[in-house]
Amino acid sequence: MATKLAVTQTRLFKNVFVCKNCKSKIRADSRKILEGKVRCRKCLKKAFRPIRRK
Ligand SMILES: [Zn+2]
Repeated sequence: MATKLAVTQTRLFKNVFVCKNCKSKIRADSRKILEGKVRCRKCLKKAFRPIRRK
C-alpha cells in the first residue's frame, strides 16, 4: 500500500490537487479527494491528481 507515502506527499504540498480536466488547483484534504467528496470549482469534475506529478 502506498497510502502512507501518498499522505506524506500531500502533506508536503499542503493538500493541493490539480483538476485533471481544467488544470485548476484546489486545496482539499487528501482523504476527501479519495472519497470523491471534492469537486472542482470551475468544471465540477471529481478527477484530481496530486500537484507534484508532471
Ligand atoms: Zn476542473
